[in-house]
Amino acid sequence: MALFKHRVRFLYLLGLAYLFFSFQVSNILFSCTYSRERKPTGPQVQKIKQAILLFTTKPKNIAEPVFLIKGGQCYNAWADSNASLIIISQRIIDEFSTKDLAGILGHEFGHLILSSKQVPVRKQMQKHWEVDIIGAELTSKQTMIGANERQIYSYNQFFKEHKMLKFTLPLVYRDYIRIVTDYELRNNKVGEKGGLS
Ligand SMILES: [Zn+2]
Repeated sequence: MALFKHRVRFLYLLGLAYLFFSFQVSNILFSCTYSRERKPTGPQVQKIKQAILLFTTKPKNIAEPVFLIKGGQCYNAWADSNASLIIISQRIIDEFSTKDLAGILGHEFGHLILSSKQVPVRKQMQKHWEVDIIGAELTSKQTMIGANERQIYSYNQFFKEHKMLKFTLPLVYRDYIRIVTDYELRNNKVGEKGGLS
């Protein structure tokens, strides 16, 4: 009986370790939790400038943000309105076209604009597509949709290349589905409600 209890506890701990591992892999792949931010290189600064030149409307009533790059495997970007920062992942800045980068930046500027209007980040995330609508107004509807499609493509490509992850680490697969579904919803809303062009 003692041995049985021991085994149950062992399997329980093994299960917890497995879930924790899956969770951590998901963080590394999708959130880049453990990658440090650093200053962009010269060519990266140029690419950001070129992308902002593609904006059709200049973001108003917000401080000029500082741009930082985050290393790692993820395709992601973040806005920090308190520090007036936009953080772009290495893979986005290096692999996306200037136009797709413009769409990504349009979205992040959207977060900064909403924060300047005292909309809490929690609220911004509840209707994440509204941030894309602002992004579409700053760039264009087509640019915003293109950037989101590029994101969906990146995540789909990753899972085409790593099919086994779906079965070995279901938490990672769950996050992938959640992210892709969010982008699809956002694109539908931009298509419906975004401004002209
Ligand atoms: Zn966002």
